[in-house]
Amino acid sequence: MSSSGDCGCSKTVESHSREALVDLIVREVSLVLQAKRAGRSSVMDAGSRKIPLGVSNRHIHLTAATFRRLFGEKTAFEQMRPLYQPGEFASKHTLTIVGPKLRSIPGVRILGPLRRYDQVEVSLTDAVFLGIDPPVVNSGSLGDAAPLTLVGPGGSVYIEKCAIIASRHIHMTNSDAGRLGVKDGDRCSVRVTGEKSTVFENVLIRTNDNWLLQIHLDTDDANAANIREETFVEFLGKM
Ligand SMILES: [Zn+2]
Repeated sequence: MSSSGDCGCSKTVESHSREALVDLIVREVSLVLQAKRAGRSSVMDAGSRKIPLGVSNRHIHLTAATFRRLFGEKTAFEQMRPLYQPGEFASKHTLTIVGPKLRSIPGVRILGPLRRYDQVEVSLTDAVFLGIDPPVVNSGSLGDAAPLTLVGPGGSVYIEKCAIIASRHIHMTNSDAGRLGVKDGDRCSVRVTGEKSTVFENVLIRTNDNWLLQIHLDTDDANAANIREETFVEFLGKM
C-alpha cells in the first residue's frame, strides 16, 4: 500500500483514494499514542517550543436537525474514526457542497460530535472554485459567513450563513498557555522551517484543558509552506 505521506502530492484528501484515508487513520492513531506516551502536555517539553501540526481539509459541522434533513429520520450519526483532539471524530457521512454558480465539491466529510450550528470550513482555493467569499474567522463566528447548499442522500438544504475560512489556531491547555506566556484569544506567530520556510502570524490561541497541543492550518497554508502532518512548527511568541 502506498502512503500519502510518501507520494509527495499536494492534492486534497478527496483526490486521494481510500488508501490515503487509511494512511491518515494510521497517522492519527500513532500521533495519539505518541502523545499519550509522552503525557499530554509534555508533547512540548520545557524549553521546547515545538507544536505538532494538524492540517485541516475542508469539512462540515452540523446540527442534529440539519443532519436529519439531509440524511432522513432513520439514519444515525455514526463515527468512522477518532480525531487527534479528544472527543472529536470523523463521521461516516459526507455531503456535496454547492456554490451559487452551481459548482460543487463532493465527498466533504462531516466531523462530530453534532453541534449547535451548521458550519462549512473551506480553504480560499475551495471558495474561489465555489464562487463564494467567506470571511477568515474563528470557528462558530458565522455572522458574515457565506452561503452554500448542502446536498445529502435524503435531501438538500440552502444555508445562507455557513461557509468560513477558519482562522489559523493552536489548541492547548491552560497550562501550555501559561508556559508559552499566552492566554485564550491571543494572537501569536509561528515559524515553519524547510524549503519553503514561512512565518505564520495572526495565529489564534484557543484553550481548553481537554485539548492536546496542536496547531491547525488549512490546506492552503500548509501547501504554501510545503508541509504535511507529522511535522512541527516553532512557537515564536505573542504578537
Ligand atoms: Zn482546530
